Order: sequence, then C-alpha cells, then structure tokens
Amino acid sequence: MNRAALPHPDPEALAALGPADLSRALDERVEAAWGLCREVHPHLPIPRVWLDLRGQCAGQAHFGRGGLRFNPVLYAENRLDFLVEVVPHEMAHWLVHHLEDGRRARPHGREWQTVMRRLFGLPPRTTHRFDTGRASPAPHRYVCGCREHGFTPRRHALASQGRRYRCRKCAQTLVYRGDSAFENAR
Ligand SMILES: [Zn+2]
Ligand SMILES: [Zn+2]
Repeated sequence: MNRAALPHPDPEALAALGPADLSRALDERVEAAWGLCREVHPHLPIPRVWLDLRGQCAGQAHFGRGGLRFNPVLYAENRLDFLVEVVPHEMAHWLVHHLEDGRRARPHGREWQTVMRRLFGLPPRTTHRFDTGRASPAPHRYVCGCREHGFTPRRHALASQGRRYRCRKCAQTLVYRGDSAFENAR
C-alpha cells in the first residue's frame, strides 16, 4: 500500500481559489482523508474543521473540541503542501486517537508513523518548512531548559551573529532549534 493514497490536487486550480473556495477545498480534503481512514476504522467519527490556528503551528488535532484545527495563513501561502501533507498528518493523529489503545500511543510514535506510511503513502515528518514570517511575528524557535521561545527575524539575525540570549526563568542560553513543528510539543 505504499503509494500516494489521496489524489494529487491540481496546483493551478488551487492557486486560483478565493478564501471561501479555499476553505471548501480544505473540508473536502479532510473528508477524503477521513474516508480513507474508515477503511481501517469503519466507525471513525468525522472531525469538525476549524481554520483558527495562529503562529507557526500548521495544524492540530483537538480531541476535546472534536476536530482538526488548521492555520489559515500557512494554508493560504502553502496550499498544495498543506493539502498533501498537513491534512493527512492531523488526520493520522485523529485516527490513532480513536483506535483501541490509541490514547496511550505517543503523538508521533509507531502507530502514527504507520498510518502516514501505509495509509497515506507519505513520509512521517514532524516538522514543516513553511515560511512562518507572516503567520507569526516571532517564527524562529529557540529552546532553553524549560520552554520554547519565539525569536523575531531581527533577534534571530543577532543570535546568528553570535549574540547570546538567556532564559529569564531558567538562566540557560537559548539554542536555535530550526524548523517549525506541525504542532506545539505536547
Ligand atoms: Zn528557560
Ligand atoms: Zn503531529
């Protein structure tokens, strides 16, 4: 079953869509991905869909709210990659969560990776390379001993030139972490 299991979207048609059609294309993609998951889990509930995520996160499976959240800015700017990869990524979380014992699985653990590879025919990546400059004023991810910090492009440039920043709370030097994750660490 190692193949791109969802049809490839037409990039030109996608590029021409206005906001309402873009939102509908996302709903349709979620529904198609959900249909595929039902081959594995016939009673999988259909997730609700929100375009309400901000910052550098691309998507998030929100089990409390019962659906999938997506980042409208990153979606509008990266339409094709978003439909091809982010929707299956979050749908794979949704599926694993609803499997027996799925709640005990690690977020990007073996079960999630298997769904990505075998069902969606995609490499199980956990970081994206979208330009988050417009979605987040502080898109560069730095870590200390206690949490993650977002750096603005200006701060990031200074850090790249050798300036050191310390966390006010744990006093550790902040270290650049690179690519943005699909969702915040849980
Ligand atoms: Zn800290
Ligand atoms: Zn994820």
